[in-house]
Amino acid sequence: MEKEKLKFAFYWAASCGGCEIAVLDIDEKILDVVALADIVFWPVALDIKYKDVEAMPDKHVDVCFFNGAIRTEEQEHMAKLLRKKSKILVAFGSCACQGGIPGLANVANKKEVFERAYLHAPSTNNRNSTTPKTSFKAPEGELQLPEFFDTVKTLDQTVEVDYYLPGCPPPSNQVSEAVGAIVKNELPPKGAVLAPEKSVCDECPRKKEEKKISTIYRVYEIMPDPERCLLEQGIVCMGPATRGGCEAQCINANMPCTGCGGPCPNEVEQGAAMIGALSSILGVDGEKEPEYDAEKLIAQIKDPLGTFYRYSLAASLLKRKVMKR
Ligand code: SF4
Ligand code: SF4
Ligand code: SF4
Repeated sequence: MEKEKLKFAFYWAASCGGCEIAVLDIDEKILDVVALADIVFWPVALDIKYKDVEAMPDKHVDVCFFNGAIRTEEQEHMAKLLRKKSKILVAFGSCACQGGIPGLANVANKKEVFERAYLHAPSTNNRNSTTPKTSFKAPEGELQLPEFFDTVKTLDQTVEVDYYLPGCPPPSNQVSEAVGAIVKNELPPKGAVLAPEKSVCDECPRKKEEKKISTIYRVYEIMPDPERCLLEQGIVCMGPATRGGCEAQCINANMPCTGCGGPCPNEVEQGAAMIGALSSILGVDGEKEPEYDAEKLIAQIKDPLGTFYRYSLAASLLKRKVMKR
C-alpha cells in the first residue's frame, strides 16, 4: 500500500518574505518535498483561505513552518489556529524564534511607530495625517483591520513551539536537514533547536591570536585582512555568541556575523553573551595603564542595541523599552 503523504503548512506573520524564499532555496530538493508531502496551506504560493484552515480537523497538518514575529491580532490568531491544527509547529527563522528585525521596534510603542512611519518619515507626504485604524466605514460597508500591538512577540511567547530553526533566513542546508529528519521521523526531543551544537566561531576558518583591541571599526572604515579574525581587527563580529550551522557564510564573504543564528547552545542572552565576549578582548595591553578608559572604549560602538540585539531583542531579558502611558 502506498505510504500516506505528510501534510505541510507554511505561514508568514511579521516577516519580510525572505524565509519563504529560503524554502525555495533548497532548489531541486523541493521536488523531493512535494513527492513526500502535500502542502495544504502556503499563502505566498497557494490560494487557500483562512476559512479552509479553520475547517481542517485539529492536528490535521503534520508540520507547520511558521516564519515571522507576532505583531498584529491577525498574526496572533493565525499562530493559535495553526498551533491547533498542527501536530508539529516549527518556529522558522529569526523573526519567529527571537522576534528578529521586527522585534527592534520594541524600543517604541504603537503610537510612536505610527507617528514615525505615517507622519514624520522624511519620505512621507500624508496631508491628512491619516494613520491605520481598526475599522473604516466605506459606502460598501464597514471594513475591519487587525489591531497592531504595542509589542512584537516571538512565536513561543504566543503559543507552544515544538522546534526552532533559526537564521535570517535559515540556511538551505539546515532547511534540507530539518525536512529530512521530519520525513525519516528522526527529529530530536521537542523544544530542540534544529541546528548544530556549536558557535559560528567554531565553524569559522579565520586565524585567532587572542589579541586585545582598543579601536572599534564599522565595516566600511577598514579593509580587513581576510585571513584573520574580524573581532581581533576591531570589527564587532557576533560569532562568539551565535549558534553555528551557516558555515560562517557572512565571514567567508569578509563581513562580520550579525547574530542571526540566535544564542549559542545553553545561552539564553545572546546580547549579554556578546558583551561578555567583547569585554574580554576590549582594552589596551595592561589594563591598569592610565590610558585605559572602559567607557571611552565602549562608546565607540555606535549602535549597541542593533549590534548586540539585532535579531533577539523581543526574546531577550530586556524584551522591550518600558513606556509611560
Ligand atoms: S528571519 Fe529574516 S528572512 Fe526570515 S522573515 Fe525574518 S527578516 Fe525575513
Ligand atoms: S569572532 Fe567572527 S571572525 Fe572571529 S573567529 Fe569568531 S566568527 Fe570568526
Ligand atoms: S555568519 Fe552570523 S549573521 Fe551570517 S548567516 Fe551565519 S549566523 Fe547569520
